[in-house]
Amino acid sequence: MASETAPVRLVDYRVPDFLIDTVELDFHLDPKATQVKSRLAVRPNTEGVADLTLVGDELKLVSVTLDGKPLEAGAYNATSDSLVIRNVPSAPFTLEVEVEIDPSTNTKLMGLYRTGAAYCTQCEAEGFRRITYFLDRPDVLAVYTTRIEALKAEAPVLLANGNPQQSGDIPGTDRHFAIWHDPFPKPSYLFALVAGDLGVITDRFTTMSGRDVELRIYCEHGKEERCAYAMNALKRSMRWDETAFGREYDLDIFVIVAVSDFNMGAMENKGLNVFNDKYVLADPDTATDTDFANVEGVIAHEYFHNWTGNRITCRDWFQLCLKEGLTVFRDQEFSSDMRSRPVKRIADVRTLQARQFPEDAGPLAHPVRPEIYYEINNFYTATVYEKGAEIVRMLKTILGEDGFRKGMDLYFDRHDGQAVTIEDFLSAFHDATGVDLAQFHLWYSQSGTPEVVARGSYDPKQKTYSLSLKQNCPPTPGQTTKKPMHIPLRFGLVGPNGDDLSFSDATGARVEDNVIHLTEAEQTVVFSGVSSLPVPSLIRGFSAPVRLSVDLSPSDLLFLLRTDSDPFNRWQAAQTFAIRDLVARTGAKVRGEALDTNEPFIDALGEVAEADALEPAFRAQILQLPGEADIAREIGRNVDPDAIARARAELRISMAGRIGGRLAVLFDSLQSKTAFSTDAASAGRRALANAALDLMVANRDRAAIERVVARYRNADNMTDRLGALSIMAHAPLDERLPALADFEERYRNDPLVLDKWFALEASVPAPETLDRVRALMEHPAFSPSNPNRIRALIGSFASGNQTQFNRADGAGYDFLIDFLRDLDRRNPQTTARLLISFRSWRALETGRRNRAEAALKRLDAVGNLSTDARDIVARMLA
Ligand SMILES: [Zn+2]
Repeated sequence: MASETAPVRLVDYRVPDFLIDTVELDFHLDPKATQVKSRLAVRPNTEGVADLTLVGDELKLVSVTLDGKPLEAGAYNATSDSLVIRNVPSAPFTLEVEVEIDPSTNTKLMGLYRTGAAYCTQCEAEGFRRITYFLDRPDVLAVYTTRIEALKAEAPVLLANGNPQQSGDIPGTDRHFAIWHDPFPKPSYLFALVAGDLGVITDRFTTMSGRDVELRIYCEHGKEERCAYAMNALKRSMRWDETAFGREYDLDIFVIVAVSDFNMGAMENKGLNVFNDKYVLADPDTATDTDFANVEGVIAHEYFHNWTGNRITCRDWFQLCLKEGLTVFRDQEFSSDMRSRPVKRIADVRTLQARQFPEDAGPLAHPVRPEIYYEINNFYTATVYEKGAEIVRMLKTILGEDGFRKGMDLYFDRHDGQAVTIEDFLSAFHDATGVDLAQFHLWYSQSGTPEVVARGSYDPKQKTYSLSLKQNCPPTPGQTTKKPMHIPLRFGLVGPNGDDLSFSDATGARVEDNVIHLTEAEQTVVFSGVSSLPVPSLIRGFSAPVRLSVDLSPSDLLFLLRTDSDPFNRWQAAQTFAIRDLVARTGAKVRGEALDTNEPFIDALGEVAEADALEPAFRAQILQLPGEADIAREIGRNVDPDAIARARAELRISMAGRIGGRLAVLFDSLQSKTAFSTDAASAGRRALANAALDLMVANRDRAAIERVVARYRNADNMTDRLGALSIMAHAPLDERLPALADFEERYRNDPLVLDKWFALEASVPAPETLDRVRALMEHPAFSPSNPNRIRALIGSFASGNQTQFNRADGAGYDFLIDFLRDLDRRNPQTTARLLISFRSWRALETGRRNRAEAALKRLDAVGNLSTDARDIVARMLA
């Protein structure tokens, strides 16, 4: 790979030469010149190492003393990115280091930086080294005490990890201080400090053992009321972790701070979570139902890290999925318990298929536990998070509810206070249940999405049903051949009346509790005592993250859509049917042929949409056709985004023509006559109304357009208003223009809401959109240094607008590359994330492929790219 930095390899892991038991930090905050003093209790950890090497990043050393004595010039060597102390004592010693940093010029948003007028930190993965020289690696766990001193007027609020210990004025000055102490040993990536003039809401929580915990959420002044839902979600998360996993909160106080400049979603710093305000602030006027669900999910996710990540952390960054996959699984379970389990599962699988499957199929494919990296920031991926969560879910399927809980309990008991590995994690489950997980371990080391091919045959004389199963995992970068994996396939054999048929015996594979354990490359399972020909319903609940190919006829799929007892597979049947139709229709478009409308399929969708016995949120999912990117992924090569868009539009027009009238009746019946509520049932009705309306306007039906315009105008909540506006924008209808202008005017002083508008403007599938995006970069509310604004406008264009980003003339690619070249100088992390929009470039048809390649090569030729961007572009072109 063309990269100037040396790679880091899992096989090179060594225990640290030194450990640090306690860290005392003293911050003298100043926007341009912050003084940071650290006092470290250092202990040699291996024999015969004479030099202590601490890492830094853009640091300026002021002084260094060892056991109280200033070091002479020859006794150490300091550069901006390392501090080497020569010939340190072989017994424990105290090192004191003072550095100066400039938060105001820190545009990378890693380390200590400014957000608005406040100070805040982000240290995962390697930001702490931008605050002071340190053993900045997750297996060095220390007890931290943090003293912060600042101007009272500038920063009345002073926060750090742990419990508050002491605070007060500094006599004779206009400054004050606060001291925080965190008794739980933690790695440096979990350090946090926030200081500024902030608003707050407070609450209390009593833990299961009766401990009283103070809860605080800080935000910009004036936005306190918009934190109420987040506070409620926090209390529910704390209770849920006690009941579902027996995990209790451990400090006297839990603090969340919402900031507007943040590279990621949120950060689980011990006792002091820092959030992108997008995942805290929510009220019905400014947040959609999806926003509420996201706030709930992210609050829960970061809170759950207190045990899976903080109390038990990662030995090294290769183990990132140990905390992320497990914690995503935990937050998915929480949301399933709070809302509808099948609907949550469908939403999560949609995300997995939209974000992780393309990663696994392209040049950025990597194992859930990578074995090499150039830049760890680039491994906060869908594979580590989403596929990592799927692995934990499969583990639960394999071990069962009780076995899984036993394994988790043992993991918590055995490793509390430690930095551990995937092997430690799996050993806990093996030791608790006796189940051999050696083959299962391959899920962590083999990249790529396994493909499972299933073929069934029924013998009416013998009453046997044979299911032949084959698995294969395609080659991925660095991995040409793969071993068969342990794939748990939840299934049912659906009989003519829709009930699952029983069977007396199953041979050829281990079959238990409606799960087939596929462990070999090919296996044939023979079920005996099957009374009639079944339709197989496979991978129920998406029990494994694989691509399934099964020989179901169109009528089999419609049968499952109407009758399967597993709601997920009803949805899956509709998706499979739609995707087959859309792939065929796209091929017909490319060849200039026409394809008939599949009326039975459309009628079946109409029936499900009207089925009152099913929850509305589920029916809304059924009505949503696969997106253009889903179709492109399925086609896989020689992709023509324009043909896909035309095919999808054609199917939608047929649907509007055939069931538009029924959908209009449904839409009208869903209009709420009661006061707005954020509960899941009300949200489901709004989702179904939006899904119905979205299809109704596809054929430009006048009455449907009037409904969408009225829905926008009369909305009393953001879900209805934004839903109507996005229907107009995506269609696109001419009516969108006055509505978009109205939306801009209405929310011009609310940056988070205006992000929704930027995103919609950028996703209009029309040739003028690229120029519109360029013009909006000059909009007063747009800031080229705020990650939320960048993701809303530029990110939505690049990843959410298939036809315009992939313009045949390559202008979309050139635009993005020009923008990223500039952004890379300020914020390499956000640059690297946006570059991922190119991940499927090799699957495009020749013309676009050549233009995308040329654009990527143009970026590759830039001399001073960050390691973040260099790493992605090099892998993309490899
Ligand atoms: Zn996380």
